[in-house]
Parts: sequence; C-alpha cells; structure tokens
Amino acid sequence: LSFAELGLDPRLVQAVAKQSFEKPTLVQRKAIPLALQGQDVLCKAKTGSGKTAAYVLPILSSILKRKTTDPAPFTAGLILVPTRELADQVYKAIEEFSAFCAKDIQPAKLTDNVSDAVLRSLLANVPDIVVSTPARAWKSVESSALSLSKLQFLVLDEADLVLSYGYDEDMENLSRSMPKGVQTTMMSATLSSELDTLKGIFCRNPTILDL
Ligand code: AMP
Repeated sequence: LSFAELGLDPRLVQAVAKQSFEKPTLVQRKAIPLALQGQDVLCKAKTGSGKTAAYVLPILSSILKRKTTDPAPFTAGLILVPTRELADQVYKAIEEFSAFCAKDIQPAKLTDNVSDAVLRSLLANVPDIVVSTPARAWKSVESSALSLSKLQFLVLDEADLVLSYGYDEDMENLSRSMPKGVQTTMMSATLSSELDTLKGIFCRNPTILDL
C-alpha cells in the first residue's frame, strides 16, 4: 500500500514524497483509513512509529477537502500534547506536510513560553489547526482568544502522559468547550486502564489499534 492509495489529498502525498517517506508505516496504514472514514481511534504507538503523520495527515486532508466548498476559516483541529518539546515537533511536522498547500492550512502552536499578547495575535488569524498543551489551550478558550465551537478533530498525543502531568481539570474544561461528536484520535505508548478516564470523556466507541 502506498501513501497515494490511502485516500489522502494529492498535495499531502506530494509533501510526504518530498520528505522521502517511501511507504506508510504500520500505524499509518492502519490509522489513516479509519480516520478518513470518520472513526475514533485509540492507538498504541510510540515515538518513531510514524504516529505524528498517522494523525496529522487525515486531519489536513479533511480540512483541505472542506475548504474546496467552505473556505471560511475556523479551528477544525486541536492536537493536545503533554510537553512543549512535543508541540514543537508536531507543529514542524504540520508545516512540512503542508508544504504544497500552505495557503490553505494555517497552523498555530500554543505553549506556556508564549506571551499572552503573542498568543492573541496568533489566534486572531483563526488557525485551522492548533497544537497546544492542555493548560494553554484551556487558558486560551477561557479568555475567548480561541473558539472550539466548530471543532471537528481532536488528538490526544502521548495520552498516557496527559493525566500524569496533572492536566485533568484542563481536559475536563476543554471537553465542555467543544461540540459533542468531535472525531477523536488518542495515541498512547500503553493501552492501560489509566486511559479509561480520557477515553470516557472524549471517545465514541473507538477502534482500538493494539499494534
Ligand atoms: P513519529 O513516530 O511521528 O515521532 O515519527 C518518527 C520519525 O519517522 C519522524 O522523523 C518522521 O519524519 C519519520 N517518518 C514518519 N513516517 C515515515 C514513513 N512512512 N517513512 C519514513 N519515515 C517516516
């Protein structure tokens, strides 16, 4: 199976080729078609498996498809990560995957080292996709700088770490700020019962990929 056969927007396939990805990794082959079908996915995946592309590519593809008929910008995707370092990596990956559709994909990265003023100006442009720690995302929603009222795609990356970092309350607040039925992907190094709380809050009957 090739990237072109996964059903992704051709501009994304082009960007993947530019990065010399020859074929999709296991997690990409399994998770991308499910996400493109609109399913929630809970996936066991560690760093190095290609998990970032597995959740970013279907979100970008769906945003690009929508924009052909409905170009008005709104924040359609939110990717929550436990650390600033991971936010940097994911944001960079989004920029690389958007190389051939940069005008149609406006990403924003919200982390604790960004001042409130910079954050407000980032969000004033209405990003299509936001990468954030849970604390910063909730703070931005609470101050009305960020609206999740039309959110369609949510990712919890390193979900097993999210709660151990003490983000419980932020996660609950965020869940109340987004529409019911947001499509959720959870990536986690383990599929232990620690995930049950987040799964209960954010997932609708997820497909479990225990790879
Ligand atoms: P991740 O697991 O998302 O942290 O990705 C680990 C590394 O693998 C990153 O440097 C990616 O650029 C690279 N990568 C992801 N998918 C592929 C692929 N299909 N082929 C080759 N390299 C990849």
